[in-house]
Amino acid sequence: MPLSRRIASDASNRRRVPLSRRFTYRYLVALAIVGLTAFISFASASRSLERIDEKSRQLEKAAGQAARLYRITGLAEDLNTEASSFKIPEGADGNPDKTKPAEFVGDRNRIEELASQLKQEVNLLRQTEAGLLNGDSALKLQAPDMTSRLLEVYYEPGQLNQKLTNFANAADQVVALKAPDGSKTSSRLAQVQLLQQTQNEAVRDIEKTVGIYRDEISSIVSAQGDADALLLLGGLAMAVTVALVLFRPMAHKIRSETTQLEEAEKIHRENNERQSFRTSLSQALEVTDSEDEVLAAVGRAVLEIIPENKAELLLIDSTQAHLRKAQVNPTLGGPGCPVDSPTGCAAIRRGQTQVFESSRMLNVCPKLPEHEGGACSAVCVPVMFSGQSIGVLHSVGKDNQPPDHTQIERLTVLASETGNRTGTLRVTQMTELQASTDGLTGLLNRRSLESKARSLMLDENAFSVAIADLDHFKDLNDTYGHEAGDRALRLFAKVMKDNLRPGDIPARYGGEEFVVLLPDTNIHEALAALERLQSALAIEIEQVQSMPFTASWGLTDHSAGSTFDEMIAVADAALYSAKRAGRNCIMVDGEAAAAHGEASEATRWSGEGPEGDSHRSPDPDISGAFANQHQMEQPLNETPKP
Ligand code: GH3
Ligand code: MG
Ligand code: MG
Repeated sequence: MPLSRRIASDASNRRRVPLSRRFTYRYLVALAIVGLTAFISFASASRSLERIDEKSRQLEKAAGQAARLYRITGLAEDLNTEASSFKIPEGADGNPDKTKPAEFVGDRNRIEELASQLKQEVNLLRQTEAGLLNGDSALKLQAPDMTSRLLEVYYEPGQLNQKLTNFANAADQVVALKAPDGSKTSSRLAQVQLLQQTQNEAVRDIEKTVGIYRDEISSIVSAQGDADALLLLGGLAMAVTVALVLFRPMAHKIRSETTQLEEAEKIHRENNERQSFRTSLSQALEVTDSEDEVLAAVGRAVLEIIPENKAELLLIDSTQAHLRKAQVNPTLGGPGCPVDSPTGCAAIRRGQTQVFESSRMLNVCPKLPEHEGGACSAVCVPVMFSGQSIGVLHSVGKDNQPPDHTQIERLTVLASETGNRTGTLRVTQMTELQASTDGLTGLLNRRSLESKARSLMLDENAFSVAIADLDHFKDLNDTYGHEAGDRALRLFAKVMKDNLRPGDIPARYGGEEFVVLLPDTNIHEALAALERLQSALAIEIEQVQSMPFTASWGLTDHSAGSTFDEMIAVADAALYSAKRAGRNCIMVDGEAAAAHGEASEATRWSGEGPEGDSHRSPDPDISGAFANQHQMEQPLNETPKP
């Protein structure tokens, strides 16, 4: 594997080991190092103690040799004294008789005892000496590593070893010459004197060795002290190294990971808060059905986000040329932004949130300093829908104290959700309007009309129903063109809208046919209303100099059927009568008229009058045409209007 890949894979392996496990590894390594240091320290101390023990034993044995020399000399002297206990027998006169041989008066047993003790001591002297030089397990002495000083004292010619050998030999001689025999007395005495003489020299040498042993013990103690100090320093250095090499990077890592965790947690918390704010705002806006309800929700949200700042929502009006104030902070009101057109607003123009820390800044919105109350900070968030600006959310606070990051973010969320909801409501309203109205005239279409009629019937309201059909409309189309026909249709619709009461419901029923529902209107009142329309149409045509045209009407009321279709059928029959009566007139369903006691005006409406049968079929013979009958005799002057 190439080196770079190996390093990379090593690095990724290391990253995969969790921090806690890495910490445990390092902790174990540190423990092992500390344990090893402690073990070395312990081993060194116990080795020193062993050596001190050994040297102390050697010192003790060596010191004991000196005492032994004195004891041996003393025993030899005693033995000699005992073996030399002779007495010259007394003569008759009571004085020593020198002619007689001296007779032994000592204690032979005592001599044997002394000789035995002497022998034993000499053996111990030799054994101890050999043990000190070569080791002796019986004496618990190990083979020593002799220093040159000791070697010198023991082994240099005429030195301690030699002296002790001579001393022991002399003591042996004393034992050998123990017999109380006059011939041996002088030899024994010579040996005793040799002992006495050697003893002092040997004791001096022994004291030298004792001094050397003591020095060696001191040097071991001080060496151990040095070693301890060294180990202590080494341990400290090791601890520092372990801390620096193993735990410092780990501490860095832990710190950085902790910081990262804290930051992640903070981001998570902020996300949660943001999400929960967005959710509650969405829920608040979700249930709104009108812009007013959206604006009320915006007011509540503003209070929650920036309760201490003046704020306002400005919306672009339908002309797209002006900004109008739609909502303000419910407690503090709005800052009164003087921007009055979308193009004058920096946030709308840039399509981005604008934060101005101070109105004294160089690049501040030129409208901002115009606010009352001196310098201020401001935030302006465009309100968009489908990439189009529909307004701006504007808030003003203390100078150099703009809203914090979270507040700005929430204002942005508020602007975005408000834009979405307002836009959606507008689109929905537009769609509903388009679905319920006729595109050419703006009147309700047939479907909406039927739904309105159903509502009136469900409410059991009394109402009249009129149906209009433009006269000779095919001719108008053919003569002036389809566009002119459309204009005529729009004009007729306008006349209806302008001249009917607000509660009346005009609709385009299809083609050039229109239906009007007149709630709470009896047939007589309805007839009057239709007459008003007829004359208004004529006036309007004249005023706008349109091509002239007329309409025929059929009128009935809700009693004409149990369904709306039945009512329309009856009104349509009346209309048919009007057409047959020459057009440009109103025919009223006879039964409806009779029900309202309008029999005297039977000639003005269709049907059979108060006495007629209940069969509602149009009959031109017994129905009358009402008012302004126009024949399309005159040419129609087209005066197109945009
Ligand atoms: P009548 O007086 O008997 O009602 O005669 P009319 O010509 O009005 O009746 P007809 O049913 O023969 O013709 C209706 C015409 O209305 C035919 C059609 O082209 C026209 N028309 C229907 N809808 C529209 C429309 O939306 N725009 C235009 N320009 N003309 C329409
Ligand atoms: Mg028609
Ligand atoms: Mg027609």
